[in-house]
Amino acid sequence: MRLADFSAILLDIDGTLCAHHRALPGAADVVRYAQSLGKTVALVTNNSASTVQEQVERMHRVGIDVPADRIYTSGRAMADWIRARFTKPQVFNYAGYALEEELGDAASFITTLDEPVDVVCVGTHLRENDVAFDYHRAIAALYHLRQGAELLIGSADRMYMFDGLPEFGSGAWGALFAFAADVPRSKLHYAGKPAPEFFLHLCERLNVKPSDCLLVGDNLESDVAGGLSVGMTTALVLTGVATRAVLESVKVRPHVVFKDLNEMLKTMVSEEESTIVKPTLRNALEYVFTIFVGACAGSGVGIVVVILLHTWWGMEISVWTGYLVGAVMGALLAAFFPKAVRDFLHWLMPLW
Ligand SMILES: [Mg+2]
Repeated sequence: MRLADFSAILLDIDGTLCAHHRALPGAADVVRYAQSLGKTVALVTNNSASTVQEQVERMHRVGIDVPADRIYTSGRAMADWIRARFTKPQVFNYAGYALEEELGDAASFITTLDEPVDVVCVGTHLRENDVAFDYHRAIAALYHLRQGAELLIGSADRMYMFDGLPEFGSGAWGALFAFAADVPRSKLHYAGKPAPEFFLHLCERLNVKPSDCLLVGDNLESDVAGGLSVGMTTALVLTGVATRAVLESVKVRPHVVFKDLNEMLKTMVSEEESTIVKPTLRNALEYVFTIFVGACAGSGVGIVVVILLHTWWGMEISVWTGYLVGAVMGALLAAFFPKAVRDFLHWLMPLW
């Protein structure tokens, strides 16, 4: 199986491409390689709290450039679910501001107990989310559910990892409301992965057939099971939720398993394909910039070494010599090991 065999490569974001604000090994290379082959590359996430534009900017910061129409969030899927069933519905939003941005004027957002509500939406609650842990708002949502409103949940995720700590997934919040309001199965709905509708809506937007897609994710329940349910080929990476031990204890079987995206790229690119990756102007500019960064860092180290040699042993070496030797050595190191410099910059970027 090769990446070239698919029309579209769909990649999960958290745990697959990145962890918090850091790209995972091979993430940017896989995306660039698939794009260089002319494949449709789309990113998927069960994070309903962030807008698509926020995800575009987040991805850009870790070195992955994908346009907004190639990112599908569970927040966008919730909006698609509502649009497909209602005309100008009354919505109670307990899923974050991203949903209001997605739906815009297509819905009326109710915030009080006085007006009827068609759908109560419950989604991911990031720590910085504007409605996170608002107890009064939760009570109002519960009230509307008991009045007969439908319950639309961002996804069935129990939890997800964020900055090294577990966070409540949309499914956990949804279960809380479903239990408290005793919501019947007919009024309980999931918009994100692994709902087949999530993947079918995405394929419709991308104009590709599910059978022509490779879905890459770190979660057996949401990514792999969801992709399999609509006939996609699935690849599991062990950089997020799933572990080899879990893999052996569940029935869900991805088509292939990789340690990380680096291993996937090496395995799914044949020898002759690796030679057809044409150097792009962007890649060339990045390479030159990497060498420049290496030269700057090297010159700084060279000057410090000259000062230390002078201070400790009284050696008389010109600062310019240290500067030039350091710059040349830094540039050479960056030229031969550009990935190490890029990884360092990506690690450094969130600190700026
Ligand atoms: Mg994930």
